[in-house]
Amino acid sequence: MSNEEWGYTGVNGPSTWTEKFPEARGARQSPVDIITSRASSGGSAPPFVFNYSVNHTRSVVNPGYCWRVDENGYSSELRGGPLGSDVYKLEQWHCHWGAVDGEGSEHTVDGRSFSGELHLVHWNSSKYDSFTQAAGQPDGLAVLGVFLVVGSKHDELDKVVRLLPYIQHRGDKVTMSEPLNPKNLLPRQIAYWTYPGSLTTPPCTESVTWILLKQPVEVSAEQLALMRKLRCGEASCGVEAMELLHNYRPTLPLGNREMRDYGGN
Ligand SMILES: [Zn+2]
Repeated sequence: MSNEEWGYTGVNGPSTWTEKFPEARGARQSPVDIITSRASSGGSAPPFVFNYSVNHTRSVVNPGYCWRVDENGYSSELRGGPLGSDVYKLEQWHCHWGAVDGEGSEHTVDGRSFSGELHLVHWNSSKYDSFTQAAGQPDGLAVLGVFLVVGSKHDELDKVVRLLPYIQHRGDKVTMSEPLNPKNLLPRQIAYWTYPGSLTTPPCTESVTWILLKQPVEVSAEQLALMRKLRCGEASCGVEAMELLHNYRPTLPLGNREMRDYGGN
């Protein structure tokens, strides 16, 4: 999919996505505002089991609408929590941010935005053969969402952020050989909300079990500033390669879906 088809500016922004991507009009769309008083108690769920691989080569990519780290098929797995007995493999993780601090998260909590949101995208490898196949199924994907607030520099995330100057333009890609533990991107406390939703970028497929961690993690203002310097166009666009100042989709109605709350108030 070429980036001209959709983006985050006026001419190709989220309000236009439904014209080209009919699924974006559905009743199971994401993100949503989490109204904490209306979330139902999930009771007890088994703990998550994170079986993430640390020592392997990853790719850091600028697809034109975020930065993304591809796990390149290494076996990093998540199971437990609300996911039942199925094993979900970590495919990639990426970030959403805003033009200024205090906005940039996709999900909001009681109307409050955060300065960014990390998404760790997993696919159901118990039921499906590939990420692509899983991405079209209602129980195909599980995305862990981590809210970012401005504070101290995040050391583990910095392994990615310091590579961003090398992937300034759409299509740029570098290899990261430094060990990194995706678990270190998560907050200490694994309390969360969960609901059925969609990808937040076109084609907005309704295949995601969302797991939003309640406790935000800190990143520095400098780290966020480096994200905003990424460009959504190719190097050949020259000055036309605009900075990717913000890349979050506004919230959509929860509708009849149940938001479940698992602990940690
Ligand atoms: Zn995302």
